[in-house]
Parts: sequence; C-alpha cells; structure tokens
Amino acid sequence: MQQAVRKVVIAGGGTAGWMTAALLRKVLPKDVSIQLIESEDIGIVGVGEATIPPIQIFNQYLGLDEKDFLRETNATIKLAIKFENWRRVGESYFHTFGAPGANMGFCSFQHYWLRAKQQGLQESLWDFDLNYLCCKQGVFNKINTPNPIFEMQYAYHFDSGLYGQYLRKIAENAGVKRTEGIIDKVKQDTQSGDVQALQLQSGEQIDGDLFIDCSGMRGLLIKQTLGVEYEDWHHYLPANSALAMPSERMQQTLPYTRSIAHANGWQWRIPLTHRNGNGIVYSSDYCSDDEAYQTLTNNLDSKALDEPRKITFTTGRTARQWHKNVVAIGLSSGFLEPLESTSIHLIQSGIVRLLKLFPNQGIQPATVEAYNAESKHEFETVRDFIILHYHVNERQDSDFWRDMRSMPVPHRLQQKIALFNQAGGIFNDQNDIFRDASWLQVMMGQGIMPQDYHPAALALPSDLLTETLQKIRAAKHQPMEKMLQHDEFLARYTAN
Ligand SMILES: Cc1cc2nc3c(=O)[nH]c(=O)nc-3n(C[C@H](O)[C@H](O)[C@H](O)COP(=O)(O)OP(=O)(O)OC[C@H]3O[C@@H](n4cnc5c(N)ncnc54)[C@H](O)[C@@H]3O)c2cc1C
Repeated sequence: MQQAVRKVVIAGGGTAGWMTAALLRKVLPKDVSIQLIESEDIGIVGVGEATIPPIQIFNQYLGLDEKDFLRETNATIKLAIKFENWRRVGESYFHTFGAPGANMGFCSFQHYWLRAKQQGLQESLWDFDLNYLCCKQGVFNKINTPNPIFEMQYAYHFDSGLYGQYLRKIAENAGVKRTEGIIDKVKQDTQSGDVQALQLQSGEQIDGDLFIDCSGMRGLLIKQTLGVEYEDWHHYLPANSALAMPSERMQQTLPYTRSIAHANGWQWRIPLTHRNGNGIVYSSDYCSDDEAYQTLTNNLDSKALDEPRKITFTTGRTARQWHKNVVAIGLSSGFLEPLESTSIHLIQSGIVRLLKLFPNQGIQPATVEAYNAESKHEFETVRDFIILHYHVNERQDSDFWRDMRSMPVPHRLQQKIALFNQAGGIFNDQNDIFRDASWLQVMMGQGIMPQDYHPAALALPSDLLTETLQKIRAAKHQPMEKMLQHDEFLARYTAN
C-alpha cells in the first residue's frame, strides 16, 4: 500500500497556486491539510486577464458571489474575441462564446446556412448569434431563459493578480495555511526520488505527501527537481516573447477582447474597469524587441500607464504533468500563448482532474497515467486550435505569415481542416475545450468556405428553409430589447 495523502503542499501563490488552494480546500475533507508557500520577493507573472466561460462554474463551486467577484477583481464581461487582420489586413471576425443559429435534427446550423447562402441569403453566419449582436452594439445583460437558443455564454476580463488575492482570502478563511518564504532546497527520498520536503531560506522545512508545483514557468519541482522534460512546440507556435503594458481605460468598455494581428505577431487589448490590459506577442526570430515596442505603442488606443514589461516563454508542455508525488499546475505545466485565453482554464481543468483522481489512499501508477494522458490530449487540442488561427491566413505582407501558412501542422488539425473544407463537417474531440461553434467561427473567419453542405440540409423545402432561418434570426434578436450598454450593466449590477 502506498502512503495515504494527508498533507498537500502547494509551491507558489500565483493564480494557479491560489485557485488550487481554494478549490482543494473546498472539496477535500479536513483531515487533509493544505499549505501554500509563496514569496513576495519573487512575485507572480502578473499577466493573464481574459478567460473563457467555464470560469463561472469554478467561481460558483467556490460559492463566490458574482457581484462581489466583479468588484474585487475590476472585472468586465467577455462575450467574444474579435480577430482583426488575421485572415487579411483590414478584415475581422468574431469568435464568440455563443453559437450561430440552432442545430436542427442531425444537421448542424452551418449546413442550412450554407444552402441558404447558395440560394442568395445575405446575412452572415454571425447575424444569427446573440453574442455577436451584443458585441456589435457594446451591450450586455443577464437573461433568464429556459430556452437554450437564447442563452448567452460569457466569461470575464479581470485582473488576475486581484483574483489571486481574492481567492487567497477565501482559501485562508477556509483553513489553508500560507507560508511566506523562498524555497531554497527540495529534499527527495533517496530511493524513490519522491519529494519529501521543501526547505525555505529561513531554514524552515515543510514536508508533505503530495506536492503541487505552482511555481510558474521555472517549474521548481517538476522540471528543476524531478527533471521532467519540456515538449517544445515552437515549430508550430514560434512566438516566444511578449511585452505587456497597461493603458488608461476607454470611455466605453467593450464586452470583448481585441486580438489585432500585425506583420510579425499580434496585440491584445483587454478592457478592465480601471484600465486596459495591452500587450504584443511575437517571435524574436522575426521581430526585434524594439520593433515590437514600436508596434505596440503606435497602436494603443489610450494613454500608457507604465513602461512595457517583457516576458519570454517557450510554447509547449511539461511532458509528464504528474510525476512521482508532484503535480504541475499552471505555467509549470506548460504554456500556450494567450491567443484564446486558455491558461487560466487549463489551471481549472488541471485542478478538477486532480480532484477526480485524488490519491487518497496513495499514489498509484494508473492514476498518474490517467491524469497525464488526459492532460496531454487537452493541451494538444488547445495547441491545434491556436495553430489554426495562424496557419489558415492569406496575408502576403511578411515572411512570418507566409511561413505560418506553409508550415506542416499536426495531423489532427489537417483532418479537421479537410473535413470542414469538404462539406462543413466538424468532429468533436473529447477533452477539446473548444466545441463545434468555436471551430466553425474560426475556420470560417479565417476564410475556409466549405465546398458543399450535408445532404440533410436538403430535407427542408426551399421556402421553408428561408422562413426557418428568418425565424431563428428573429429569435436571436429578441433579447436585444433587454440589453444595456456594458458600462451601465456593470454599474447597475455591482451597485448592491
Ligand atoms: C504574456 C502573457 C499573457 C497571458 N494572458 C493570459 C490570458 O489572457 N488569459 C489566461 O487565462 N492566461 C493568460 N496568461 C497565463 C497566466 O498569466 C497564467 O496562467 C497564470 O497567471 C498562472 O500563473 P502561475 O500561477 O502558474 O505562475 P506565477 O504567476 O509565475 O506564480 C508563481 C508563484 O510561485 C512562487 N515561487 C516561484 N519560485 C518560488 C520559490 N523558489 N520559493 C517560493 N515561491 C516561489 C512565486 O512567488 C509565485 O507566487 C498569460 C501569460 C502570459 C505570459
């Protein structure tokens, strides 16, 4: 019998550390102690402001009051990402959290839309999506509906540093012990190699049964101590640098993230209630820091509040995210550039996976294998989705975009593109964070127009097809009457 897990030690108190501490404390019985070590001298990565909708489930599970959460983290509502200049300079499209139209029977909406388009339909796919309609008008409201066709999926933009602090309060109140200090040495069992204890600079020694490495990109336990290799994906995603720079808030807060492609990378703009988060992501193989700085500062829409901060990274993943008695969560487990705001979600799903497989009676090889297989698949599907944005482009203005277009891509992605190209088909991969509607919008937005549609779309006679689409469109427009300007919603909703 392996050693039962009664003491969990979390190394690191960034977003990953405090999300892990708060959720583990909420779920695990009290006879499992949780201790977190962090160092204010080292600090946190301090970026990461856009999320995807499952964050709501995480917050609800912790029992966070949404209004309180919005106030504490200076959050705004996120309905979509607007991709500008990604397919061609001057063009844009939205990847919303909604879904265009409604699926009917066996047949997904895009097939009906493709057929109607051939019959002369003028409206774009997005005209049938409530999230898009709200983005166009800068509005939002919470709608209460029993009909999923009206449901509006949303996420948040927030200050992840403040989110960490908010969760810290909750976790400490619930009994997580926090220790301030720099981890200086890691003690391992001479036989098994398992981590036994973390020694701080102060000399204090903290032992545990299970260690969660939330130490950021350095991977203090998983990489530096256990020597787990890093799978480098820069051949697919060459960006390795970012400059992050806050600027003054805009007069009107948009309910979406902007992702603006430039000649050698892309720029984000994330609206918070007190400022905008901005940054540029680029590859040093194609662009110098000075050029990136110029591009970023030339394209800020409001006054800069600070000098840019440079962050370097290698896109990829830690080959085994659970090894021996160490589980890596957060940046220590890998990093995919922030194009689709997936890092905080990958933290969330890593914690949930760990909880599902929690080794109460001791760590078994089958548990570790299951955790690692699922994590690998999840990271790879996110990677492929991100590659799609770069690979399917028609830009002619730089070697960067030409190289992204001609590079070989993973087989799974090739298949997805071929299937969609042929007849608008999309298959769902288990553990893929992004569902059909996401793939649909990005494939269509990047310019893949299917050559045909599914024959099931022929089941409706022509006149009924037109009428059905108009009814769906009207139904999607109906909730617009209840929408408020985004700022007005935030002010009213968080007022009490
Ligand atoms: C440019 C950029 C943009 C991003 N944008 C987004 C986004 O929009 N959306 C999103 O979801 N994610 C985004 N991310 C990712 C997001 O920032 C991270 O996933 C998130 O902040 C989690 O970081 P972390 O907690 O793993 O690491 P960190 O924040 O680096 O925390 C590491 C912790 O470990 C502690 N530590 C390290 N070494 C020691 C030691 N020796 N002793 C004691 N303590 C130690 C540190 O003090 C700190 O508390 C972005 C990342 C980058 C680089």
